[in-house]
Amino acid sequence: MAHRITAPAMQRAQRLLDQRVQPFVHTDAINFVVEATPETFESVGFAAAVGGPRSTFAIGSKWGTPWHTTWFRLTATVPEHLDGRPLHAMIDLGFRGRGDGFETEALVYRDSRVLHAIQPDRRTVDLGTPGAGEALELWVEAAATPIIAGHEFGYGPTLLGDPATAPQRPIYQLRRAELACFNPEVNALAVELHAVIDLTVDMDARDPQRPRLFAALEAAGNALDVADPVGTAGDARAELARVLRVGNGPGAHRIVATGHAHLDTAWLWPIRETRRKALRTFANAVNLLDRNPDAVYCHSQAQHYAWVAQDSPELFARITQLVAEGRWEPVGGMWVETDLNLPDGESLLRQMVQGQRAFRGWFGLTCNGAFLPDDFGYPAGLPQIVNHGGAQWFFTQKLSWNETNRFPHHTFWWEGLDGSRVFTHFSPVDTYNALNLPSQFRFAERNFSDHVGASTSLVLYGHGDGGGGPTQTMIDRARLAADLNGVPRVTMGKVADFFADSIDEYGADAPVWVGEMYFEKHRGTYSTQIGTKQGNRRSEQLLHEIEVWSALAGSRPGRIDEWWQRVLTQQFHDIIPGSSIAWVHDDAEAEHAAIAEEIGAEVRAVLAPTGKDTTIMNPSSAAFSGVIDVDGVPVHADIPAFGWSSPSPTLPADGTTCVQVGGDITVTGGGTSFTIDSNGTLTSIVHNGRDIIPADDFAGFVLRADTPAEYDNWDIDMADANRTAEFVAAAGPPTVVEQHALRTTVECTYGTGASTWTVRYSLTGSGRIDITLDADWHESERRMQWRVPTDIHSHEAVCGTQFGHVRRARHGNTSWDIARFEVCAHRYVAVAEPGFGVAIMADGPRGYDVRNDALQLTVMRSPRFPDPEADRGRQHVEWAVRPLDSLVDVAPLEEEAETLSHPPRVVPGSPTVPNDVVSWNVPGVLISALKPADDGSGDIIIRAWETTGGRRTGSFDVTGTRSAVPCDALEDPVAPALDRDGTGYAVTLGAFEIVTLRLTR
Ligand SMILES: [Zn+2]
Repeated sequence: MAHRITAPAMQRAQRLLDQRVQPFVHTDAINFVVEATPETFESVGFAAAVGGPRSTFAIGSKWGTPWHTTWFRLTATVPEHLDGRPLHAMIDLGFRGRGDGFETEALVYRDSRVLHAIQPDRRTVDLGTPGAGEALELWVEAAATPIIAGHEFGYGPTLLGDPATAPQRPIYQLRRAELACFNPEVNALAVELHAVIDLTVDMDARDPQRPRLFAALEAAGNALDVADPVGTAGDARAELARVLRVGNGPGAHRIVATGHAHLDTAWLWPIRETRRKALRTFANAVNLLDRNPDAVYCHSQAQHYAWVAQDSPELFARITQLVAEGRWEPVGGMWVETDLNLPDGESLLRQMVQGQRAFRGWFGLTCNGAFLPDDFGYPAGLPQIVNHGGAQWFFTQKLSWNETNRFPHHTFWWEGLDGSRVFTHFSPVDTYNALNLPSQFRFAERNFSDHVGASTSLVLYGHGDGGGGPTQTMIDRARLAADLNGVPRVTMGKVADFFADSIDEYGADAPVWVGEMYFEKHRGTYSTQIGTKQGNRRSEQLLHEIEVWSALAGSRPGRIDEWWQRVLTQQFHDIIPGSSIAWVHDDAEAEHAAIAEEIGAEVRAVLAPTGKDTTIMNPSSAAFSGVIDVDGVPVHADIPAFGWSSPSPTLPADGTTCVQVGGDITVTGGGTSFTIDSNGTLTSIVHNGRDIIPADDFAGFVLRADTPAEYDNWDIDMADANRTAEFVAAAGPPTVVEQHALRTTVECTYGTGASTWTVRYSLTGSGRIDITLDADWHESERRMQWRVPTDIHSHEAVCGTQFGHVRRARHGNTSWDIARFEVCAHRYVAVAEPGFGVAIMADGPRGYDVRNDALQLTVMRSPRFPDPEADRGRQHVEWAVRPLDSLVDVAPLEEEAETLSHPPRVVPGSPTVPNDVVSWNVPGVLISALKPADDGSGDIIIRAWETTGGRRTGSFDVTGTRSAVPCDALEDPVAPALDRDGTGYAVTLGAFEIVTLRLTR
């Protein structure tokens, strides 16, 4: 019965809104006179547009070649019938498909000042109440950003993501440019009608309030005279007020609503466009805050502020004022909203350092929380990184996307590897782009897991991903929900205040989640767009190296902050994961190449070698002893940490040998031997007499279908990971290409119909097998893995992560274990029994399948969306197999990984930096940064971390220093200075602890 009663009632209400109210929000329209500049690929800017050529543009005409910009000039003289009435400009650039930020958008200027954006949900410009005869002029900078994702193309390949392949024809149509009278009473009725309809639909049929909502809708319809909607809108509102005035009980859930615009620093648009999006988005927020004194807006990502400060100092000054008033809230303290899986630990810390420093400089404040709503996994070291960066709380919501398991808490303490805790909140509205609908607030209340002790949750409202932010309607809706029966009590407030109140209320009782927060989706992002990832790794290595050598040289490079900021920007959560359009990844690789050249030159300048001797520099914090190529010839070198030496004149006792029996080649050295057969498979890897590989199995390359249901560049689906893989045999028998006392190398070429790859297996006296792959890769929707089966009984794999390691199950005991079918690991993945084990070590690739009895490294993918050519072409990938005697103490493995992460540098001549001045005698502790202090004081900063998960004590010294003060990552002191005894400074580090010390000369 209910259905027969309610269905036509809701239909009537919806039609009332759509056809009898909404069209009368604006009336009495006339067309603007429109002119347009010739479109250009790069925007000419306001001054040039105003002063340049333009021609008449007919409303209804096409405009906008993809990625080009057109400036429109709109002019009108206020006619008599609009004299003194509230006027709006109404602009439709040809909006379609998905909403704000995903298609064309524009920025409006009036009287040479930035006003705000024009977007699908923000089509009007308030022109005040001008008198008849007054001349109006607007300039509109319209960007023809094409729709990449959405209804038009789904997840199919698109050529629109690269200006070189996008069609060269206009794709938008200027549908509307009108001057109209704005009727605020009708607008208010539209907002309220929409809210009551939304609430009625969402409410349970048995809720006693629901029939009253129906009655109010019916009464509102009766009160509105369709012949005079403007004149009777107030009567209809009075009917709705009967239900909108009914408040909530004292036990209602509470919501703090904060205006926000999630702005992806690059994604389906390049950084070039994000820079303009930031200006549009910030202008929108300033405009709204000016009109709504009770509203608050928060924005993260210092990089966006830096762009706006450069591009519109006037707007930035208004933002600075709003920050001072407490209405604009800088959040997160990071340079950008970084990806968390791929950057190394030092990069994550520098996100906090560069972000916090920028916010301090602009606004005199330090953010007290980390704000990362959209990350694809949360590593176990992050709580400590957040604390070390000066922040105490953490915000996200992305785990609501988990495919398998529901995360059990929304408000809780998150405890990291070392025991550090951050008070954490997941917004239960399951989005960072809320629209403030009553049904959304109600969902958040139902979804919230922590009602037992927490009365409040946080909702971020505003169009996001492509920016845009809140609208007036969203703010109006938040006000309607301040005290509304059936809806949580909504107040507009700041994120930091929400956290402070929440900690007060629930901090003592909140549950604790320990360890990583694995994201059960987007597992392909550990591997996709390998060129972007390798560029990042190279930049991270060079930044580490220039800091080491310049610290020892007693100088600070003038461009060091700029280099860091550029690298950090490229670590944004859609760039380094490989989930952007082709253009973004081309930009990223070019940026990393430019940075490598600039820092490389600076390294050479700082080292300033003289003479003719060859020197090998070791920028790592572990002593190096091994083989390195000098002019293509392997030499042996023993080099102290942060020091240098000449190639060793004598060969070490452990050499390598090679025997060939039939088609099998066996190479032996350093207690390890491996055999490769004529198929190009490794049939054995023997260490101290025991084979890692089971008797009936072999290690080699497999190809697997890689056909995600959605989000191609992001996702590897479980169905594909579990599909039968195709083994790839060699194209020809392997050959010995290098036979040297220090190193023996076997080469083998593999291929499919489309791709070929040549692989070199090298063994040195260290007993580690180094594998390099050079591919010409042209697969489509296939993934290459290198699989090594392990005859080792181990229920878990030890996986390196930032500032530590985590243990992950190799079985599927629980649904949480089952969901971890592909994991992210830094430096190594290892499995062991007591006395025997094996690790895959890799500094570039990060994706592994560690399940069951094999270790499988994802070497390459070939997804098609949003970059249809992702990863195709020439690729070079390196990894290694390290047999292990033990995994009880990971210190030796971490030390070896350290020298792989920061490989030696060959220098012609002797460097001028002092050698071997850092002595560090704390077993199991490595140094992630040795750098000049950021304040330019000449102090040296050392950042150390405990690698094994135990307490470590020892001492260290740097020649020529006289005091050491414990600091945080911002290099602010956190404890009294350490005493220096005869040999140096005594320190103790807890399990996985990060310690930063400032050394004064
Ligand atoms: Zn995002």
